[in-house]
Amino acid sequence: MSRPTIGVLALQGDVREHLTALAAADAAAGPVRRPEELAGLDGLVIPGGESTTISKLAVLFGVMEPLRAAIRAGLPVYGSCAGLIMLADKILDPRSGQETFGGIDMIVRRNAFGRQNESFEASVEVAGVEGGPVEGVFIRAPWVESVGAQAQVLAEYGGHIVAVRQGNAMATSFHPELTGDHRVHELFVAAVRAAG
Ligand code: GLN
Repeated sequence: MSRPTIGVLALQGDVREHLTALAAADAAAGPVRRPEELAGLDGLVIPGGESTTISKLAVLFGVMEPLRAAIRAGLPVYGSCAGLIMLADKILDPRSGQETFGGIDMIVRRNAFGRQNESFEASVEVAGVEGGPVEGVFIRAPWVESVGAQAQVLAEYGGHIVAVRQGNAMATSFHPELTGDHRVHELFVAAVRAAG
């Protein structure tokens, strides 16, 4: 597979930034909203935004169950920030009724790094990303409290887990799509190619 087709779940969040980063990482990228659009994808990105809203809209648009099934069946997925929350099997502090797609055996804490005005940037060393640390943009970012035996920790910051990979699924607490550095997206595109 030379140029994989990767969707960006376009219910809410920073969809455009992920589309740009994926195109720069040599993927054919397009927005995805409806369940029937999942067919034919080589991979899918779940953007940053607000996980409670993404959860609600996923149910409303009928993609919650089909996407859960696709991830279980091996669709490569990458989530940033709210997307990381959506890929967690368990949220420590969910809003009532909040659901996730799951895929990574981890427990996440929403807004763990503080509120909007406590957002920050920090250098983060990510396993599998060559050429030095990436600039992590943390905006009302979650952290990962704990991971199961199948999950591999890719990065930590301030003593907390901020990037994880398990099988076909990968997630970061921070937003590489906002920096113009496409190495995390390249890592995901390489995983998508390897899976195809
Ligand atoms: N705190 C947000 C949530 O719970 C995530 C913030 C983000 O994606 N920048 O979804």
